Amino acid sequence: MPELPEVQTIIDDLSKYLIGKSIDKLNIPTPSICRKHVPKSSRLKGVKIQSLDRRGKHILVNLTNNQTMIVHLKMTGKLIYIDNATEIAKHTHFIMIFDSGELHFNDIRRFGFIDFVNSDKLDKIPYLSGLGPDALDISTPEFISKLRSRNKPIKSALMDQNIIAGLGNIYADESLFSAGIRPSRIASSLSRKRLEKLYQSMREILRIAIQARGSSVSDYVDGSGIPGTFQNQHKVYGRTGLPCVKCGAAIKRQVLAGRSSHYCSRCQR
Ligand SMILES: [Zn+2]
Repeated sequence: MPELPEVQTIIDDLSKYLIGKSIDKLNIPTPSICRKHVPKSSRLKGVKIQSLDRRGKHILVNLTNNQTMIVHLKMTGKLIYIDNATEIAKHTHFIMIFDSGELHFNDIRRFGFIDFVNSDKLDKIPYLSGLGPDALDISTPEFISKLRSRNKPIKSALMDQNIIAGLGNIYADESLFSAGIRPSRIASSLSRKRLEKLYQSMREILRIAIQARGSSVSDYVDGSGIPGTFQNQHKVYGRTGLPCVKCGAAIKRQVLAGRSSHYCSRCQR
């Protein structure tokens, strides 16, 4: 699933292409991809793209008519700008057509969604209002206090979007390796010092991952349809059985709350 660095990369890309573009019409081959109501194409004609924003793993496309299009890519969603669309790729469920160029939402597994909401009511949308502070915005004291109050594995706490928004399996695993903390450790049992180290590791990993334009391990591509490169820098994620880059021990895999965790049993305590 695309996480903070992938979603941010898509937003940075799409901002370059979309801001100021005028909507001509919508083509929605799969109306069920839209939550609540399917927007009327005629009402959007002439409306422009004002800005793009991110809330956790959600992409927000703000329009000049005081509406925001919210996109969640979930497992296999892709949001791609195409300058000269000559064909519609398989599994394309929603197309926003501009005076020039098109925005395609493509999703093989169809867990993703598109929602049109009133821009000044964003904070009342349940799946947004419940999100914790963003992993790039949260302060050190807030990070420490939020995690120290949780009696569950640190890995699960890091991935809980209501505690901190933006991290998923890849960046939780990589941050914990960098901080030397075992994923199964109970969050409340960790010292302030270790959580501070985790905070710094998380910020550093996210920063480098955004620079590398995200991780492409299965379906993720950026706003132009090009894969990211951070998967080449993964130290534990997806490396079960391979030697640890620090100590050489085999990377282990453990299932926590239904998700695979990858870690080094020597370097992470
Ligand atoms: Zn190691």
